[in-house]
Amino acid sequence: MKRIGLTGGIGCGKSTVVAELRRQGVPCFVADEVARAYYDDPDFVAQVQSLFDSPVLTADGKVNRKAIAAAVFSDKSKLQHLNALIHPRVMHDFERWCNQQQGQPVVFFESAILYECGLEKAMDAVVAVYLEKEERIRRLMVRDHCAAEAIEARMRNQMPDEEKAMRADYVILNYEGNPRARQVRRIVELLIG
Ligand code: ADP
Repeated sequence: MKRIGLTGGIGCGKSTVVAELRRQGVPCFVADEVARAYYDDPDFVAQVQSLFDSPVLTADGKVNRKAIAAAVFSDKSKLQHLNALIHPRVMHDFERWCNQQQGQPVVFFESAILYECGLEKAMDAVVAVYLEKEERIRRLMVRDHCAAEAIEARMRNQMPDEEKAMRADYVILNYEGNPRARQVRRIVELLIG
């Protein structure tokens, strides 16, 4: 079974490609989705809380992702500590999930920060979704109802998409009207060989 990384910065269209892969019957593991669920585990929350001064849970017990994001945004060592808690767990869960995908020739692992975290080493190949920054900002302003400046600030913390595309084995150009279904099918065919 081949393990394929799927990456690209926010707004490039990763989730849209994951939806197409799943539609075509290809199993996808979405790292961010899985990591979100860790906050349901009180032990994990306690470990994260020990890194921060302000509460990581809101009064009604929900994860205060905005506060966590703001805290790690301005403090790289906190970000490293948080990643050190999350990433080994994500990779462990990915391996367990892979074991449940018996008979599948190919599975995908989606993460915006695959290269930033060096997780490409655990993959057989990487597919990058690429779109120019300006268009990603336009789409995110619609999707998240955010100001351009806030989106650009988040993007500055990620590796430029040009670099991701250059490192990847396959690139999907996610322009409007791109033949996504055909491109996804073709890449999967090539990966399966
Ligand atoms: P990511 O998961 O990489 O952050 P999304 O898949 O959520 O990105 O895509 C960002 C936004 O762009 C979404 O609102 C999505 O519906 C839209 N989008 C994705 N692909 C296209 C496309 N080819 N043409 C037009 N809009 C698109």
